[in-house]
Amino acid sequence: MKVTSAEFRISAVGPGQYPEDGLPEIALAGRSNVGKSSLINRMINRKNLARTSSTPGKTQHMNYYLINEKLYLVDFPGYGYAKVSKTQRAAWGRMVEKYLSERETLKLVLLVVDLRHPPSADDKMMFDWLRHYSIPFCVVATKADKIPKTRWPKHIKIMKEALGVLPGDRFLSFSSELGLGKEELWTLIQEAALS
Ligand code: GDP
Repeated sequence: MKVTSAEFRISAVGPGQYPEDGLPEIALAGRSNVGKSSLINRMINRKNLARTSSTPGKTQHMNYYLINEKLYLVDFPGYGYAKVSKTQRAAWGRMVEKYLSERETLKLVLLVVDLRHPPSADDKMMFDWLRHYSIPFCVVATKADKIPKTRWPKHIKIMKEALGVLPGDRFLSFSSELGLGKEELWTLIQEAALS
């Protein structure tokens, strides 16, 4: 897809701040530092629109980016910060679960994982939520450039088995560094946005 415009809209701290224009939303979930911001920047050909390495304090912000004035990429707060308190973690869980279960404009969730490593317990929990709420999703295994291509099949197999990915589920290897997987991902996003 040709991106003609991409702009940061809002860092929402709750449903009261989510946009009300009814445009389709494609959300990105993943642990902190997994590479969500880099993925967004690569998808929209910008170096710095999505902030890389966001701060642990901002556990409750949903960042909305408006693309071509027709869909939103929504960056979920990253999970898995060691220093987050139980209370913050619980608040994060409530917000994300509420969004997943109630947001009518949500069309697709990209679960961003690191192809190099088996999924974390939080990745697995997120995956299980997506199943539970029957939300269309695609597992996006990023940082693929960090391992030789000959080893991808092994890593993909481990990732799929540990998460519980079934035949027919969507799964994509990706690299923000190289732009690998970008066109396939746009195709998926556009299909989902139109659904
Ligand atoms: P976020 O916290 O999920 O938004 O993660 P960032 O996008 O800030 O990425 C964390 C670190 O991983 C940064 O140093 C990025 O440059 C690096 N990174 C992210 N994606 C890739 C990738 O596909 N390949 C490589 N080699 N590095 C990446």
